[in-house]
Amino acid sequence: MSGAEVAMVAATGVIVLLSVAWVLRTRRAASAQVARLERAVDEAAGRRAAASVVIQRLGAALEAIPHGVVLCDEQADIIHRNRHAEPFVAARHGDVLVERALVELMHTAVAGEAGVQQLDLYGPPRRTLTMSASPIDDGERSIGAVVVIEDVSEKRRLEAVRRDFVANISHELKTPVGALGLLAETLADEEDQAVARRLAERMQLEATRVGRIIDDLLDLSRIESEEAPIREPVPVHRVLAEAVERVRPTAELRGITIEVPEPSRRLALNGERRQLVSALYNLLENAVKYSDDGATVEISSATDGSWVELAVRDHGIGIPARDLERIFERFYRVDRARARDTGGTGLGLAIVRHVASNHGGDVRVDSHEGEGSTFTLRLPAGPGPVAVREAG
Ligand code: ADP
Repeated sequence: MSGAEVAMVAATGVIVLLSVAWVLRTRRAASAQVARLERAVDEAAGRRAAASVVIQRLGAALEAIPHGVVLCDEQADIIHRNRHAEPFVAARHGDVLVERALVELMHTAVAGEAGVQQLDLYGPPRRTLTMSASPIDDGERSIGAVVVIEDVSEKRRLEAVRRDFVANISHELKTPVGALGLLAETLADEEDQAVARRLAERMQLEATRVGRIIDDLLDLSRIESEEAPIREPVPVHRVLAEAVERVRPTAELRGITIEVPEPSRRLALNGERRQLVSALYNLLENAVKYSDDGATVEISSATDGSWVELAVRDHGIGIPARDLERIFERFYRVDRARARDTGGTGLGLAIVRHVASNHGGDVRVDSHEGEGSTFTLRLPAGPGPVAVREAG
């Protein structure tokens, strides 16, 4: 082999070696790149899975919010709404007024301005909604908005009830307190002993009325705050005896007889004794108040094993049919003037209804004007025919 040939072979060898080395390096580089790619794909998949968990969590959180929530993009197109928002914005059942307000609020919010709107829907059912919109941005530009829709009807109704209640109390107290002031003023200048005594007696009456209203209010507020009273077996005969005992002096003054059956000593109610006595006492007090002198008031009790019914029947003035629905409202009275004469506060039946509902029972009335009324309290029966606790 000539020197030139040897040089050629050597050069070829070098080239082959270099090529092999290059191929090997390229291959290694390629497989490293593939590995990098695989890692990147894995990471992306991991990020996607994590993102989908976040989305799931956010979706569940939006569902847990007890108001309607609507999310829109920067074009004010809705991209998500929770189920509470559906009745307001679902295409077919949505309310036109709500949708119009929603679109308006979303457009204002994506332009960067928060907004609140209150809507009165005349229904039925009649409802009041508040809608509040807030812009969402990424620090530089708007990326959408969120609107929260809240049904505030119940809140508004309770506010109105509370306002009425306070106004009613002020009115009810103002009358006797005003009378007391006037009577005291007259009394201060009165020299005639007989007139002074009469004025003092009137003052006593008015003071009793104020006291009674305050007592009833305290009773009512106590009963209202004890929504789930402690339940224990309470013998029916004890409830009857205590309630009758409380009303007896008034009944005797007017010659009214209260006929009490001798209920089985084993018959028991499941409830809070003080509340049960208070409810029955209020029914008895009314029966006496709205009966003529010398009349009779009857109490009866019955049970089907699960419930005990206590009925108070009178033969008094009765209640007009049109008032029957409203007499359980606080301060509602059929005949204001007459109720005032009888010393009524308008709170008795509200107390009765509260006691019944606190115990999971109810109260019904059957009444005819000029013939009389029967009020029936239905309450959960205590433990069956087992010995009930007599003490207490
Ligand atoms: P009041 O203290 O005025 O009696 P209640 O809440 O106990 O208030 O009763 C509400 C109204 O229902 C009374 O003002 C009265 O007009 C009517 N009422 C209640 N019970 C009787 C009854 N047994 N007979 C006739 N009217 C009744």
